Amino acid sequence: MPDSLQDITTAVHQSTLRTLQAAWPDRETGSALMDLTEASLNHLGETLTGFTQIAGLKTACAAGCFFCCYLQVDVRAHEVFLILRWLDKNWTAEAVGALLVDARRVRARALTEESPSHSAIAGAPGDPGQPPALREEAQPTPRQPCVFLRNGHCSIYPVRPGACRRYSSASLEACGDLYEGIEPTQGIQFPVLKEAGRAAGTAIHNTFIAKGYDGFSYQLPLAIASALEDPSCWERWLKKEKAFPASAESTVPSHLHFSQSESLTQLQAALRSPAPARVTSAPAGEPAPVPAAAGESPPTPASEVVKTLPPQPVSPVATSRTWNQSLSATSPPQGNPAQKKPPTSA
Ligand code: SF4
Ligand code: SF4
Repeated sequence: MPDSLQDITTAVHQSTLRTLQAAWPDRETGSALMDLTEASLNHLGETLTGFTQIAGLKTACAAGCFFCCYLQVDVRAHEVFLILRWLDKNWTAEAVGALLVDARRVRARALTEESPSHSAIAGAPGDPGQPPALREEAQPTPRQPCVFLRNGHCSIYPVRPGACRRYSSASLEACGDLYEGIEPTQGIQFPVLKEAGRAAGTAIHNTFIAKGYDGFSYQLPLAIASALEDPSCWERWLKKEKAFPASAESTVPSHLHFSQSESLTQLQAALRSPAPARVTSAPAGEPAPVPAAAGESPPTPASEVVKTLPPQPVSPVATSRTWNQSLSATSPPQGNPAQKKPPTSA
């Protein structure tokens, strides 16, 4: 059993990499790659669900809670095409047409105005050194709902991007502050869930990058608009070319991306630094304290990071056993129970 946050992160990253590489299709057909994308996202969700249960963590998330769906969502091309495949099977042409109208509206705003969410992602005023906002270190954003938010629920829940699956909160109040444009005074995510999600997401993206597929990070609505308008986006992706135009790229500065081409190096560097947080003194349901400064303390034992472990805990590595089940699953994924449920109708 890993005994530190660093070990946990390493185990998640390596197990996810191994699992993906083992499951990579011999023939890289579009269908096989989309199946793999769907399974890998389900695997990510199951990993985080396992960590949540093992650690005895209680997130504030619940069905119908959607403050986080007002944050900008960044995705990779394979995630966009998985959503399109799902829309094709589950949405009417009229609903997809309405989606395109919404996505174009978001794009027009993003291209013609200085996007407030851009500055928020780059860092709060006076705090230019902040890491990227979306799903990593959330920053206040304007009230612009995700184009897939319907009546307070995610309308693409079974195929929602990895960013959405990774994000959970220890404090609904902090999410509410963010929604209101108030910078929360405390961290939002439990460190162990944040780092495990980061490690699994990085491993998934790195696998696609290593196989030659588009590794750019895109803004979800802008990439969706391009993909719906232009079938050649899919064809380019299949040919291992850049799928979407530069205008659809994420506004997160490239040097702050955790999973671009240099992401593996960044992850390894992060793993060499002391564990970032101790949560033992955090009350139940409250965010963890601010991480200790580098070199201030030795790595935090996992027993402290995750509070309480059962006598015979399931290793994070063992979560990869669910992989084959994910691949063959015909029922909707369980995902993170803390996340939103799909609406009864799209
Ligand atoms: S992260 Fe969780 S608690 Fe926060 S708004 Fe989203 S669902 Fe609600
Ligand atoms: S894709 Fe779904 S879960 Fe993600 S931000 Fe949009 S509505 Fe929310």
